[in-house]
Amino acid sequence: MEMVQVREKNPLLNPVPMRDGQIEGYVHSIETFGAVDGPGIRFVVFMQGCHMRCKFCHNPDTWKTNVGTKMTSEEVLNKALPYKSFWGDQGGITLSGGEILLQIDFALELFTKCKELGISTCLDTCGQPFTRRGEWFEKFEKLMDVTDILLVDIKHINSDEHKRLTGYPNENILDLTRYLSDIGKPVWIRHVLIPEITDNDQYLMELGQYIKTLHNVEKVEVLPYHTMGVHKYREMGIKYRLEGIEPPSSERIKNAEELLHCTDYKGYLSWRPGIKTFNT
Ligand code: SF4
Repeated sequence: MEMVQVREKNPLLNPVPMRDGQIEGYVHSIETFGAVDGPGIRFVVFMQGCHMRCKFCHNPDTWKTNVGTKMTSEEVLNKALPYKSFWGDQGGITLSGGEILLQIDFALELFTKCKELGISTCLDTCGQPFTRRGEWFEKFEKLMDVTDILLVDIKHINSDEHKRLTGYPNENILDLTRYLSDIGKPVWIRHVLIPEITDNDQYLMELGQYIKTLHNVEKVEVLPYHTMGVHKYREMGIKYRLEGIEPPSSERIKNAEELLHCTDYKGYLSWRPGIKTFNT
């Protein structure tokens, strides 16, 4: 039997669909052997729904909320567990998106079960829904208790530029990174390098300096902008706003890696769930 539990007034909390006493998540797609979505080999669940509208987004098909394949945490685990032997001591399950934090109840239920089964958990987020207020934050704190590591995208260090690029300012996203640093939760920081927008030495230096103030960073990654998702915009009849911008050159990628001090962050090499290896 299907029912929808309507939550309190906080607009950040979506109605939570339930089936047979379990929360359902809206899943966009699943990748069984993810090698770039957190430590080791991971079973990656891409959730549906995102409020941001990043100009470079290559998955506009994940934007719409409350659509996609409804799955319970048990159904996700049943699909993931046959791959457990491939995960080794670093791999496990990653929840990605879209924006996973829009479905925080589902994430909490799934990761709680993962921890009961000894599965490593990784959350891949852009941080847009983060707030330290109310019930949402209480849930987030609980979610952090069952999350081993996060991949946090900082789309732009300058809030005005961030808003131009994504539709939202970045203050609460930087606050998320500060909070995670304060509680000592391991993170990988990722930054998309886009010519004319984020490929700017001043902004890269500012971002590099900001990351240096965090105490929980295992890895810093520069993700070169690419145009592989452009065809989806055509198919969906949406205007692609970075028309004419080409991927960055290898020199500019190297320059960004230097300004973000990527090689200073090597903790990810020896990271294991439950062990903190910041900057070792
Ligand atoms: S946060 Fe991610 S999914 Fe959302 S618009 Fe940006 S790139 Fe796309």
